[in-house]
Amino acid sequence: MIRFAFVAIAAALLTGAFIDRELSKMYGGHTQLADISLAGNAPSYFALTNVNVMAPSSDNFISDQTVLVDNGIILSVGSNVEFVDDTSTIDGKGMFLVPGYTDSHVHLWKSKNDLLLYIANGVTQIREMNGSEVHLRWKEEIEEGRIGPDMFVVAPQLATFGFFEGLFVGWTQNKTIVRTESQVSRAVQSFKDVGYDAIKASSFLDEDSYTNVSNAAAENSILLVGHIPMSVGLNELLDSGQTEVAHVEELMKALNREFGGYTDRNADEFLEFVRNRSGDVADRLIENEISVTSTLWLIDSFSRQKADLSGILDSVELQYANPGITEGTIITSRGMGWLPDVNIYRWPDDIDAEGQQRSLTYWTTYSQAQHIVFDALLEKGVPIMAGTDANTPVTVPGFSLHDEK
Ligand SMILES: [Zn+2]
Repeated sequence: MIRFAFVAIAAALLTGAFIDRELSKMYGGHTQLADISLAGNAPSYFALTNVNVMAPSSDNFISDQTVLVDNGIILSVGSNVEFVDDTSTIDGKGMFLVPGYTDSHVHLWKSKNDLLLYIANGVTQIREMNGSEVHLRWKEEIEEGRIGPDMFVVAPQLATFGFFEGLFVGWTQNKTIVRTESQVSRAVQSFKDVGYDAIKASSFLDEDSYTNVSNAAAENSILLVGHIPMSVGLNELLDSGQTEVAHVEELMKALNREFGGYTDRNADEFLEFVRNRSGDVADRLIENEISVTSTLWLIDSFSRQKADLSGILDSVELQYANPGITEGTIITSRGMGWLPDVNIYRWPDDIDAEGQQRSLTYWTTYSQAQHIVFDALLEKGVPIMAGTDANTPVTVPGFSLHDEK
């Protein structure tokens, strides 16, 4: 009996260690780090000449400008900027100089290489939307001079699950599982104490926990951002004090819950419903000072990741993506990754032609509905932040923000 228990415990420990290793690999913990000393050769004092600079009004470019930079600080900009003869110069002819971009929805997971991809793509600010204490450390290192974008780090997302499912989800997806009011208040308090910038609601909070999270965020004077939990509707969002919705998609999904859940058979009716409701949703977001992050490209990619996965993989800068994340892991039967054998959005192998057609109708409608909502938000003037959900299949950090339009 004792021997059996020993074998069972040893097997459980070994399985646990294996899953831990697979998760770390999948999130990029084993990815070889880029050598950042290569970036150390740039001059700290230099003049960028003949460049087109974005005007302060942001609606045109001023041509043939010289920009003098000293140790990261712009000293002057103009057509007659003087500098001494031996100053390093960079010819900016034919190029455009713009302020740094912000990606308002990213996932860094475990590879610091992503920090360089953001900078290389002109993204100088990011919001990590499911942070960990590792990211808080990276944020500090960047503030102390390491190369990387300014970081806003949102706490691990809060979710409600039963005990055993909660153990697995918490372990594999960096979610914090909460079921009671005291668990919520302890979690929110500790997130505030360690220095996170905001609390995140996941799709999986139950209604009571969402209320508790909203109260705890207010008590701790910390922002509440994220999804609209599936257990609630738009009215609960508006009452919650949540200041931001992490995807336009979330509003469309809340409208779908009001509609009763569309299928490929009543897709047109659903789109009509979204058209009729979106203006009112936008008005109420404005009244409640709630902003929305876009992530449009990702949602539009869902139908392509089903019907034309190799085409979309060819069109993104896959060579820069974290190989751990693209290759995924085998700990779930369908895999968790980007590539054809493990892509989490791909069709099941046994889907027939009719099933494919119905699925395409569903996901094309999904994408159209989010654009109807987005257009209404834009027209009414809801604050919209550009965000990509980078590192979700198949959004490559840094590059993907240039496709978010
Ligand atoms: Zn996300």
